[in-house]
Amino acid sequence: MKNIILTADRPTGRLHIGHYAGSLINRVKIQNEGNYDKMYVMIADAQALGDNHDNIQKIRDNIIEVAIDYLSVGIDPDKVTIFIQSEVPELTELTFYYMNLVTLSRLTRNPTVKEEIKLRNFETSLPVGFVTYPISQAADITAFGANIIPVGDDQLPMIEQTREIVRSFNSLYGETLVEPKAVLPELEVCRRLPGTDGNAKMGKSLGNGIYLADDEKTVNQKVMSMYTDPDHIKVSDPGKIEGNVVFTYLDAFSTDEQIQKYAPEYKNLQEVKDHYSRGGLGDVKVKKILMGVLNEILTPIREKRAYYEQHKNEVYDMLFKGSDDARMAAQQTLDAVKKAMGINYRDILKK
Ligand code: ATP
Ligand code: MG
Repeated sequence: MKNIILTADRPTGRLHIGHYAGSLINRVKIQNEGNYDKMYVMIADAQALGDNHDNIQKIRDNIIEVAIDYLSVGIDPDKVTIFIQSEVPELTELTFYYMNLVTLSRLTRNPTVKEEIKLRNFETSLPVGFVTYPISQAADITAFGANIIPVGDDQLPMIEQTREIVRSFNSLYGETLVEPKAVLPELEVCRRLPGTDGNAKMGKSLGNGIYLADDEKTVNQKVMSMYTDPDHIKVSDPGKIEGNVVFTYLDAFSTDEQIQKYAPEYKNLQEVKDHYSRGGLGDVKVKKILMGVLNEILTPIREKRAYYEQHKNEVYDMLFKGSDDARMAAQQTLDAVKKAMGINYRDILKK
């Protein structure tokens, strides 16, 4: 079987270290290992309109920001097709046909969608466009025959929904679509990185992120005001590690060498944790380690970003070229879907 990778991000804001940990690291790793036939990265602008149709400027402005984030973390357009969802209208057409294979109650049972409805106060006024986005994700994935989807764990229900659609379609109309599989980060903490406020998820729409584009001063300020252990008041107090996001981020991003570099009296993170739990280690000292670690990751990303910010037309050219390539691939799937369903009238009706 071919290995086709597809991932996407909503252009609802710049990308943050949650995206980096949850998905971008895996994408770059897969890209560089080269063990794939085709890799796509999609900017999901049409999906983002589902909860931003009254703020299109935000989505339009963030297409370039997300694209620059991709290039800055090392996604390479020579190896990967980067494209804009709405530039591939075949995806919308596929969504329309797949809608018949899913019930409304199935859509509203999706735990991620449930959380998002609550967050957006959509309980009594749920936009149809919003609630159907898992179906459009199934279209995005199947249009390219993608079988490997590197994501954070909030996306597991979406992949499951796609698999159900693929099975329904194939059993009704004949073997046509490919069932995808989610690939989660190996480290559990990276599967759903919490926000700087201690919220269970860092999210663009939650305002609790450290962005890949944040400068050093902003990162340091965010780390300084980060949620730790509210009962750890005096340095001598024993501190809690669990739920303490400073330690969660150190778990996600630090190496032993970095711990030794930024706090030479410790050999590894475990020793820092032990000291903090015993008491006698202040929050500021641990936060300083985290600042060093995060800035070490973000400095090269920022440097690349500075180049692309000066060369936006290059980035747009890349996106439109990628969109043309993606469109050709999606057209083939749409043709196969219509043929399987027997609605390829021009081929079958006129003898
Ligand atoms: P929004 O709040 O607009 O939905 P988001 O921050 O959830 O934005 P998405 O564009 O929806 O970002 O998600 C893109 C990818 O990043 C998905 O694969 C998702 O699983 C992953 N991701 C998003 N937030 C996190 C996080 N906090 N930890 C790990 N992975 C994440
Ligand atoms: Mg999201």
